[in-house]
Amino acid sequence: MKKRTFIKLCTAAAAMPLELPSFAAPEKLSNWAGNIEYSTENVATANSVASVQDFVRKHASFKTLGTRHCFNRIADSTQQLLTTDFAAQTPAIDSAARTISVGPGIRYGTIAPMLEKGGFALHNLASLPHISVAGAITTGTHGSGVKNGNLSTVVTALEIVNAAGVVVKLSRKNNPDIFPGAVVGLGALGVITKVTLNIQPTYQIAQTVYENLSFSSLKEHFDEVLSAAYSVSLFTDWQNQRINEIWLKHRIDPAKPPVKQPRDFFGATRATKNLHPIAALSAENCTEQMGIPGPWYDRLPHFKMGFTPSAGKELQSEYFVPHKNALDAILAVEKLHEQIGPHLMITEIRTIAADDLWMSPAYKQDSVAIHFTWKPEWPAVQKVLPMIEEQLKPFHAKPHWAKLFTMQPARLQSLYAKLPDYKALLKQYDPNGKFRNAFLDTNIYSS
Ligand SMILES: Cc1cc2nc3c(=O)[nH]c(=O)nc-3n(C[C@H](O)[C@H](O)[C@H](O)COP(=O)(O)OP(=O)(O)OC[C@H]3O[C@@H](n4cnc5c(N)ncnc54)[C@H](O)[C@@H]3O)c2cc1C
Repeated sequence: MKKRTFIKLCTAAAAMPLELPSFAAPEKLSNWAGNIEYSTENVATANSVASVQDFVRKHASFKTLGTRHCFNRIADSTQQLLTTDFAAQTPAIDSAARTISVGPGIRYGTIAPMLEKGGFALHNLASLPHISVAGAITTGTHGSGVKNGNLSTVVTALEIVNAAGVVVKLSRKNNPDIFPGAVVGLGALGVITKVTLNIQPTYQIAQTVYENLSFSSLKEHFDEVLSAAYSVSLFTDWQNQRINEIWLKHRIDPAKPPVKQPRDFFGATRATKNLHPIAALSAENCTEQMGIPGPWYDRLPHFKMGFTPSAGKELQSEYFVPHKNALDAILAVEKLHEQIGPHLMITEIRTIAADDLWMSPAYKQDSVAIHFTWKPEWPAVQKVLPMIEEQLKPFHAKPHWAKLFTMQPARLQSLYAKLPDYKALLKQYDPNGKFRNAFLDTNIYSS
């Protein structure tokens, strides 16, 4: 039986946490997918920088939660969880500097319409707008586009409360030596209390979906396919040597009339109605397609705010390989189609431009990400992942920090050239391991 959640409230005014009456033993929180139950029922909420500082000083070990969309235990704690609710802090748009500054916990789906109203946009979004900015940038969350870096690449400044409870302000301009190590920080440097993002003038996107691209055509036109639009996603179930759907998100040039995309795309056929990436599901929760132009934030994600993104009950894994090896990597995974097929909902293939962020999987490497949306069958998926990781080993594949993987920590660590510098940074911000948990102990600190 489910029991009441026990919540401690921290406020700036009342440094003493307010404890709600507990009628029964507390209930544990779960992540969005429901595959992870966090290991403690102690959950507190901070609503200001001062209350975060107070909380940090009083606790020896805790993890901060964003919107709980990670699929693994990166956000877990056995001691204490902190959520943030900075509702009183309105995102601040600086039109002259072309930036937006947001507090922790705020979602892309909340700031996007504000930006649009001010005539601004972000360079890209993930497949869903439901995730928090702080949670997304700290795990290297990405969308697609050969020229688009991940969402962390437009971070220009960060405010972090470190393990001593001190507010540290870092910016790309003032701290060029360590800033690239702090942005994809894996939630390990402290509590992010403010993120500043580069913005640009608003733009429109028209989304056109094609069906059935043969692998032979993909092999022949690989780079043309992946760079055919501002953002391109390929969806495959790995069956019958084909890409089931291709989603082309064309950025509209305001100086030119919108172009209707041709019926044929390297042998694939333009869809005649909106589609879900999993063709059997209703497209009701998907952003508008059929080449109908719309604001960037209503086309770059695949899923609409206010609706369940993706399939709902699912698991996710994703591996980044160098763009130059991506076709070979895809063909290597295809060899596992019989093992993958029974447990897969859909695979998505996207591109991410190289960046300079130490713990980003696209560090100094134009990348292609091969993603798997799995049925919620962890015992089976757990057996398939090592096979995929083995197939992708020659391409030095790196797993997504927020998704499920089985790669050995030593192997994972060997893939990050800047890991020693990142660990040195962690030592500075968190000398006694206040922000560590089992995930970080295993995957980062174990060498
Ligand atoms: C349906 C679905 C679709 C997805 N699509 C994509 C996609 O298109 N591209 C992609 O790359 N990923 C995708 N993801 C993964 C998602 O982007 C990541 O899981 C992201 O980190 C989620 O952010 P969150 O706020 O929910 O983080 P959480 O799961 O709450 O936390 C993630 C990490 O951030 C830390 N954190 C959160 N807030 C703070 C803070 N204020 N200070 C310090 N640390 C903090 C946590 O401690 C933890 O380490 C998808 C996930 C789902 C469920």
